[in-house]
Amino acid sequence: MRLIASIALLFTLHVSAFAAGPMKALLIDGQNNHQWKLTSPVLKKILEDSGLFTVEIATTPEKGGDMSTFHPDFSKYAVVISNYNGEPWSKETNDAFEAYVRKGGGFVSYHAADNAFPEWKEYNQMIAVGGWGARKEETAGVRLRFRDGKTVTDNTPGGCGHHGNRLPFQVTVRDTKSPIVKGLPMVWMHAGDELYDSLCGPAREVDVVATAMSDPANKGTGENEPMLMTIQYGKGRVFHTTLGHDVPAMQSVDFIVTLQRGAEWAATGKVKQAVPADFPKPDEVSVRK
Ligand code: ZN
Repeated sequence: MRLIASIALLFTLHVSAFAAGPMKALLIDGQNNHQWKLTSPVLKKILEDSGLFTVEIATTPEKGGDMSTFHPDFSKYAVVISNYNGEPWSKETNDAFEAYVRKGGGFVSYHAADNAFPEWKEYNQMIAVGGWGARKEETAGVRLRFRDGKTVTDNTPGGCGHHGNRLPFQVTVRDTKSPIVKGLPMVWMHAGDELYDSLCGPAREVDVVATAMSDPANKGTGENEPMLMTIQYGKGRVFHTTLGHDVPAMQSVDFIVTLQRGAEWAATGKVKQAVPADFPKPDEVSVRK
């Protein structure tokens, strides 16, 4: 009887560990030069489809609104995902967000979130590099490029943030040890998307996980530009994906998978998700409609 009771207890403990349920994630939107009302539901679905997260959405006031009303309790969440590119938040909210990440909170910067907040120093530390807005290389920092087998910084004067026409392009893994890309092919084809180039920033504590060649024939730089990055900010983990301009780009299976894995890594420091069979191959896009 005692043995059965022990087994029952073990079983209960085991079940209760899983019964803790999915982690809480917070998605921020409300202002963007992109169609956030279309992309936020897709981000929410992708994250919840992983089975790891329940996603709440915090929407800021519209442009010109009273930003003091926007003050989420970040500490309730395992990870915060930004789909925001708009007016500055209040100083109180900025301070709370910095404290949240510094103390170990997870953060995911998605596509144009790296266009946001050119003047917010700590935010730029979190994302490592960003583009557009008031950013210029002379003040915003350096560019990150991958040359001769390693990540290098480039401080050539010029603008920060650019992309060519939307075309499919290959993404290449540069850090095979990163849990986010472990088990993925070394090279895969990403569906038609903006290939960001010439992002600038402090570029500290950053690991360039994957790059793509910015094709001069498509107004690009001829450089391997960072597409996926991880950044350490205090005790916090940041996953920065430049991909996913709009819904068709977000249907690219590599966007879905790297977002799910990047969010899990930002939240927990580990990735336990399996690689799906429909992950794209080097010469062929794979999309989920
Ligand atoms: Zn875009």
